[in-house]
Amino acid sequence: MSKYLSPKLETVTPYTPGEQPQDQQYIKLNTNESPYLPSPAVVAAVSEHEVEKLRLYSDPACTDLLKTAAVHFGLQPDQIMPGNGSDENLFFALRAFCDETHPLAYADITYGCYSVWCELMHIPSHIIPLKEDFTLDPADYYGLNETIVIANPNAPTGLALPRSAIEGILKANPDNVVIVDEAYVDFGGESCVPLIDRYDNLLVVQTFSKSRQLAGARLGLAMGSASLIADLNRVKFSLNPYNINRLTLKAGQAALEDTVYFEKTRAAIVDTRAWTKQQLEARGFAVLDSRSNFLFASTQEKKGGELYQKLKKKGVLVRHFDAPRIENWLRITIGTPEQMQIFLNTLDKIMEE
Ligand SMILES: *Cc1c(COP(=O)(O)O)cnc(C)c1O
Repeated sequence: MSKYLSPKLETVTPYTPGEQPQDQQYIKLNTNESPYLPSPAVVAAVSEHEVEKLRLYSDPACTDLLKTAAVHFGLQPDQIMPGNGSDENLFFALRAFCDETHPLAYADITYGCYSVWCELMHIPSHIIPLKEDFTLDPADYYGLNETIVIANPNAPTGLALPRSAIEGILKANPDNVVIVDEAYVDFGGESCVPLIDRYDNLLVVQTFSKSRQLAGARLGLAMGSASLIADLNRVKFSLNPYNINRLTLKAGQAALEDTVYFEKTRAAIVDTRAWTKQQLEARGFAVLDSRSNFLFASTQEKKGGELYQKLKKKGVLVRHFDAPRIENWLRITIGTPEQMQIFLNTLDKIMEE
């Protein structure tokens, strides 16, 4: 850190993203990307013609993408805002709905960025522990009088709450925004999008990174009442009006329109997840009931950190969090069936050592 850094930033611990090795030598099961290529429609949409148009700024209103998204989700265009990844939309939401005297409530085991953004923006964190079995008790969130963020399905556990449980939290906090981070909802969660017209305190955030093969394009959608979305636009247009680039706008629209490819790839992940869970359980692992594109698993026989290291040495990258309560667990992204077979073979070799 330089002597010029604002003292307010000295205490911020930045988020540590999962490793992104730039050679191709790993089976990469560590950052919940899709193992499948983007839809052929996406490849066609990002045409040379569009590349030539990079000379011009992108549409700050994202008109075409919003039209497509509105039809897709059964909303009005003014109930949706695209972001540069859902990370940006979540950041905008915290900027809009929290501050020094308006805390953010979230679980002790959840997406790591929430706490980082709170530090960065000096938002007090109200951390609410999950139960012993990593489930979330909705009653813990009733009447908090604080902004709330819940990842549903949660990361890194993969556990999901039914829509009715989130609805209970919405009803019990009518004067506060409840942000539902649905990064993994397409793999078996119940989306809260159908509740948007009934709860003006609901903000749903989805991403194209996990179920639509576009992690590298950086695209997410925030969805809620037109007035909440106007608040987010106030932040966006005060920071970076052209936050979504031209190629991503085209790619995102094509990905949303190709529902056949979307269904095919998400069904493949769900099938491979069920098979992999069974395989891990047959090997004595505890595996949570994941509704996401990863499994959260642990074994009595080896420490999480050790397993992570040994898998990496043998070319398989998974995610290990050196954090209280979960240091013995591994988060394993669901890849292709072939990748999961290699993962299991590698695991078997390590367990025999
Ligand atoms: C991956 C992830 C995000 C971020 O997604 P991007 O759209 O790639 O920024 C947000 N929340 C959760 C829970 C995630 O797992």
